[in-house]
Amino acid sequence: MELVELLRDARAVVGFTGAGVSTESGIPDFRSPGGVWTRYDPRNFEFDRYVTDPEVRALSWEMRTEFFAEPWAPNRAHLAFARLEDAGRCLGVVTQNIDGLHQDAGSRTVVELHGTARRVMCIGHRPEYGTPAGCGWDAPHTWAFERLDAGEADPHCPRCEGLVKSSTVSFGQQLFPGVVDAASDLVRRADVLVVVGSSLQVYPAAALPMDAIDAGARLVIVNDEPTPFDGVADLVVRGRAGEVLGPVVDALLG
Ligand SMILES: [Zn+2]
Repeated sequence: MELVELLRDARAVVGFTGAGVSTESGIPDFRSPGGVWTRYDPRNFEFDRYVTDPEVRALSWEMRTEFFAEPWAPNRAHLAFARLEDAGRCLGVVTQNIDGLHQDAGSRTVVELHGTARRVMCIGHRPEYGTPAGCGWDAPHTWAFERLDAGEADPHCPRCEGLVKSSTVSFGQQLFPGVVDAASDLVRRADVLVVVGSSLQVYPAAALPMDAIDAGARLVIVNDEPTPFDGVADLVVRGRAGEVLGPVVDALLG
């Protein structure tokens, strides 16, 4: 396979993954019909509404509870990057996903552009301009579920009584400080950037392939639909993430 040949001498692979890397784990793409996300009004996930409306917060926790009720597990695509990292041939992964499945697969270096659903954080009493302004307290997401189970609809920060929110980036929320720089630094150290399951259409995702190319990396795109970067990629593979990457890493590592 062409991808096996391209990766055979690579020693500093970096993965860049979007929703398409987790669909084989059963997690629906944000935009796909029928999924857990689409049964909720997207306006309820706007940062300002979360801040101002306790009912929106209660709905949001309901959605998180439903999300984590499913036994999501990493698939062959997540495992592929973890195995390459273990073998000393992958520097890490930048992901647009919040599901934590790269870490579950064993990846150690993971830059999460949109935060993580695996933790919750204090965002302060009345954060403005889409920017969390909490006291620094955070906890595993299970902290919130325990509060909810205990009968609280809208748990508050145990340290300062501020609002608590999933440590994810909502609509209308600024990205966390430093995360774009961390992603850019990582892809610039790649010898091959392997983009998987991202349509590469929104910032900052759309900036990272050019960062990598500018720094001398080759670009591979694995996606089931065209992306704006197909024309500048060294290789484009149409297909599902795990179906493509599983056999490739088997061939590389045996
Ligand atoms: Zn606090």
